[in-house]
Amino acid sequence: MSKTIPEEEKTVRCIVCPTGCEIHVKNVKGELIIDGHTCNRGEEYAKDEFIAPKRILTSTMRVNNGLLPLIPVRTNQPVLKEQLNNILKEIAKKIVNAPIKMGDVLIENVLDLGVNIIASRDLIRV
Ligand code: SF4
Repeated sequence: MSKTIPEEEKTVRCIVCPTGCEIHVKNVKGELIIDGHTCNRGEEYAKDEFIAPKRILTSTMRVNNGLLPLIPVRTNQPVLKEQLNNILKEIAKKIVNAPIKMGDVLIENVLDLGVNIIASRDLIRV
């Protein structure tokens, strides 16, 4: 997906490793000026965070016949922040049956994004 690079500047905290460098990104006439990083991984992270920020989505899904009525779920990879609400709506529509194992795919390829919704824990049947 192509994105227009925002005409602005932004400071991001790199979360790639525990050092947590503070990285400054500025768009100068379409060219990204990046400083504050101490490695290439941080530069890539800051660029992605500036152009198309992504997050792992966590939520809960309804369960039939489970020890608990809800199971915690998450995306199996980061997704664009602009898709988070759409994915949450898909999760809200779904009811799954216990038993469930941690890592089970509960929604495959949600919204054709190439991302799965997976269980974050085991849940036994009652
Ligand atoms: S820029 Fe490099 S060293 Fe700094 S937090 Fe990111 S990954 Fe770690």
